[in-house]
Amino acid sequence: MAPVAIVWLRRNLRLKDNKPFAAALRHVDKILPIFIFDTTILKQFPNPYDRRLSFLAHTLCLLHDALKTLQGGLFVFHGTPLEIIPKLVDHLKVEAIYADEDYEPANIERDRAIQKVLAPRCKLHLYCDHLLIKPGIILTQSNQPYKVYTPYMKAFRAHIVHQGALEHNRLLIEYRYALSGRLFIPSALHGKSIDLNLGAEEVLKQIGYIYKKDTLWEPKNGFNRLDNFLKNQIDHYKTNRDFLDLNATSRCGPYLRFGLISIRSCYRKAFALASNLGITTWVNELIWREFYANILYHFPNSVHESFQEKYRNAIPWNSKEEDYNRFVHGQTGYPIIDAAIQQLWSEGWMHNRARMIVASFFSKNLLLDWSKGESFFAQHLMDYELASNVGGWQWSSACGVDAPPYFRVFNPYLQGKRFDPDGQYVKKYLPNLEKVPGHIIHTMDFHTLHIDYPKPMVDYTLSRIRAIETLKKIGL
Ligand SMILES: Cc1cc2nc3c(=O)[nH]c(=O)nc-3n(C[C@H](O)[C@H](O)[C@H](O)COP(=O)(O)OP(=O)(O)OC[C@H]3O[C@@H](n4cnc5c(N)ncnc54)[C@H](O)[C@@H]3O)c2cc1C
Repeated sequence: MAPVAIVWLRRNLRLKDNKPFAAALRHVDKILPIFIFDTTILKQFPNPYDRRLSFLAHTLCLLHDALKTLQGGLFVFHGTPLEIIPKLVDHLKVEAIYADEDYEPANIERDRAIQKVLAPRCKLHLYCDHLLIKPGIILTQSNQPYKVYTPYMKAFRAHIVHQGALEHNRLLIEYRYALSGRLFIPSALHGKSIDLNLGAEEVLKQIGYIYKKDTLWEPKNGFNRLDNFLKNQIDHYKTNRDFLDLNATSRCGPYLRFGLISIRSCYRKAFALASNLGITTWVNELIWREFYANILYHFPNSVHESFQEKYRNAIPWNSKEEDYNRFVHGQTGYPIIDAAIQQLWSEGWMHNRARMIVASFFSKNLLLDWSKGESFFAQHLMDYELASNVGGWQWSSACGVDAPPYFRVFNPYLQGKRFDPDGQYVKKYLPNLEKVPGHIIHTMDFHTLHIDYPKPMVDYTLSRIRAIETLKKIGL
């Protein structure tokens, strides 16, 4: 057995049920867990108060504390992995690094570059830990990626079933290992290592950001959230999930994005429950996550251009800055849209139904480029995932994979009436509308009220016709 290997944590920030930990411990005597604040990635975080970084720093400190109780620690660096990893490898003379595999195009490139620099003295071993099934496994009979969700979902489910009964299922396995006595503590480390003992505030300061305590998204709450959801809400998920005024979804997204919750545990725990429509629907949502990750993996160009070729560089997008600004500041004059934007600003999260309504409004009624909406969400969502966000935005704007037909434009009034019938969601995020009777908020009559609230920035009917006409011409 080799004496030491590095375990490089990236999007699997947990100590339990962690595939790279399990793999490394099978092959080496001791492991050194590390994390890198990658300056290339940090460039995409211009806001010094970004709550995702506070969450991340807090998570790293908790991991470090837990590892300390096992006579180890988490070692954190700041820079580019391409600079840091080779120096660390040479310094510690390790022959192997274990990490979770990342399927985003830029990260695939990063890992290839690192593998090249390290070869032949050290190998980077990658394991699919962020998704249940590695992209590229679920293919059509002609070995092509699926471009439609439902057949993909069926094939995905069949693949799981094929791996055996739940207790022995190879895909749903819970990786178990003991870390005690297996953690390596180096006497000195090369490069800019950040001391997690200083706490999250100081850690962020050292990399140029400001820590803000966030009671809404506490790293330690991930598993409780999942378990409470599975115990109390999942049975009603199918019927309640679309209601904006109900707290009926898991809100596990941020914990999955950073890997505090293992994706295997979501499937495993859901499958262990007595099957019903709520469970089936929730698992299908988890499969959407895998579907979009597969699309991005097979079609990396979809990050920047519409999945559907006919829409690429073909839509005469509205370039009015003022329209974009009114949207992102929640000043559209449509209560449901403005409330959703306010939810995003205040919570770093937005209800799925609201995401669909606002993305449709943005790309169809305002005819603003979906990629600008995607970037706006990317700056604010705690659960931001490139694949799902690009997928969701392109789906809503009609130019994505398996998207609804171009003439389907969400009507904010009808959506509001249906999914926020008493206006509770709107009133929560727009308290200045507190006194407006609930049955009026999602109607045209709302605009006749003499209240301090913007008039609609576009006429719904006219803007709908404009969107349909524009997209129809391209589709011909
Ligand atoms: C325009 C737009 C942008 C989106 N951007 C993101 C994003 O950046 N990151 C993200 O995780 N999801 C995104 N989604 C999908 C979905 O809105 C969120 O996953 C969901 O709202 C998260 O809430 P939850 O954790 O309570 O999910 P639940 O309803 O409890 O679902 C459980 C998990 O399944 C996954 N999931 C659920 N719905 C979807 C979906 N439609 N597509 C992909 N995965 C899904 C998520 O990981 C989610 O946490 C987007 C949807 C749209 C329409």
